[in-house]
Amino acid sequence: MPATIDLHCHSTISDGLYSPEELVAYAHAQGVKVLALTDHDDMGGLSRARRAAEQHGMQFINGVEISVTWKKRTLHIVGLKVNPDYAPLKAALDAVKQGRLDRAKLMAEGLEKVGIEGSFEGAQAMAGNSIMTRSHFARFLVEAGYVKDVKTVFKKYLVKGKPGFVEHEWMTLEEAVTLIKDSGGVAVIAHPGRYDLGRTNMPLLMHQFRMCGGEAIEVVTGSHTPPQYSQFAKIAHQFSLKSSLGSDFHGPGMSYMAMGRIAELPANCIPVWQDWEEGKHLN
Ligand code: AMP
Ligand code: MN
Ligand code: MN
Ligand code: MN
Repeated sequence: MPATIDLHCHSTISDGLYSPEELVAYAHAQGVKVLALTDHDDMGGLSRARRAAEQHGMQFINGVEISVTWKKRTLHIVGLKVNPDYAPLKAALDAVKQGRLDRAKLMAEGLEKVGIEGSFEGAQAMAGNSIMTRSHFARFLVEAGYVKDVKTVFKKYLVKGKPGFVEHEWMTLEEAVTLIKDSGGVAVIAHPGRYDLGRTNMPLLMHQFRMCGGEAIEVVTGSHTPPQYSQFAKIAHQFSLKSSLGSDFHGPGMSYMAMGRIAELPANCIPVWQDWEEGKHLN
């Protein structure tokens, strides 16, 4: 049986392909009963998604996925049950939005050096009012005919060492966790299997995250393999962290997994939603 809860996905407010309303309707059609919207660095879709979820009789959780720099790496911290009106969190995310705009200009300069013109304007047209992400550049490059698909764009242009890649300083781990917590939310390490952390850094991250108030890690996510579900269930247990679950859905053909297809948490995990009123609607 696939899980009927999904605590990680994206709308057009960041780099997803569906509007908040379309995303909720899609989740409902896929059998999701409890949904968190977790756009990158932006909480602008939450009230729209909540309204749509109410219309479909679904439980809705406010969420956000914050980009963080830790030991020269970019990590993602999901905040669940955040308060979108908490001013310090809003202000910090506004600053990230501006930082993303500055980064996008530098990315476009890098791409111009290899003969790709107009990518800032192109990516901005893709983003509309949303934050500027690498995904918007990728879509522009595909649409303009430079590259055949998004996956290839990332490999050729947008990852470290490639012309469109720009090193960027995001929030610190402590800042992100503190803002999430102080807004009333729960901090979760997103897709920990994706960071290429070695034997030293993985436990160090878990320890530091726990010390600054982090409470859970994603055990089941669209980008983990079943052996990783077991690996991270064990790590969660070792570090007294709860477990979360989410597809990381961005749109049809865009993500590792469709919504409503994701496995349930391994039996020995403590679900992050264990004490939540919303979680009581799962059975
Ligand atoms: P940014 O936060 O602007 O650096 O953009 C990161 C986003 O790009 C991620 O959230 C993914 O949605 C997307 N992304 C990263 N790597 C890839 C990849 N190899 N293929 C497709 N999308 C990717
Ligand atoms: Mn994304
Ligand atoms: Mn992520
Ligand atoms: Mn995500």
